[in-house]
Amino acid sequence: MADVGATVIRVREESDLDDLEGLLIPGGESTTISLLAQRSGLFDPIRTLVSDGIPVYGSCAGMIMLSDRVLDGREDRPSFGGIDIAVRRNAFGRQVDSFEADVVMPVIPGDPFPAVFIRAPWVEETTDSVEVLARVADPGSPGRIVAVRQGRLFATSFHPELTPDRRVHQYFLQIVKGDA
Ligand code: GLN
Repeated sequence: MADVGATVIRVREESDLDDLEGLLIPGGESTTISLLAQRSGLFDPIRTLVSDGIPVYGSCAGMIMLSDRVLDGREDRPSFGGIDIAVRRNAFGRQVDSFEADVVMPVIPGDPFPAVFIRAPWVEETTDSVEVLARVADPGSPGRIVAVRQGRLFATSFHPELTPDRRVHQYFLQIVKGDA
């Protein structure tokens, strides 16, 4: 986010959450993020921030953490929730553990976004309160949902930080500023 003009701080303790204008939950392993958040005492404060409506962007494992329902998750590793979706962890399966796809995302101007997926989730259920921002082709389905927004909560199955293209980060900055 720093290269699109945001001042970035890493959240390590509860006081780091004071005065944030937005929060980014990165990729990694959602079960580990959940465990570390619980152990560090950050789980409840972050859940409160999310439900208070602070702008939050979750990518990949971060998307899982923002999902109200997690399929193939672990009972003892809850998500923060916030977006009224069900995501399936590691949904794209073994053969395509990692892949790149050009994703058409109308909220992002210009060419399709070169999206990198790593053991990525997809969104399996949504409700009317959730805006579907992007899908990727998958034979036998109308396209798997890989980007969603609900209010100021935004999530993608892919990792935009792994390509030089910064349009997804710019979009989140617009959400933070109230311009999108
Ligand atoms: N498979 C991971 C999980 O379930 C997500 C992978 C990622 O963030 N690249 O949390």
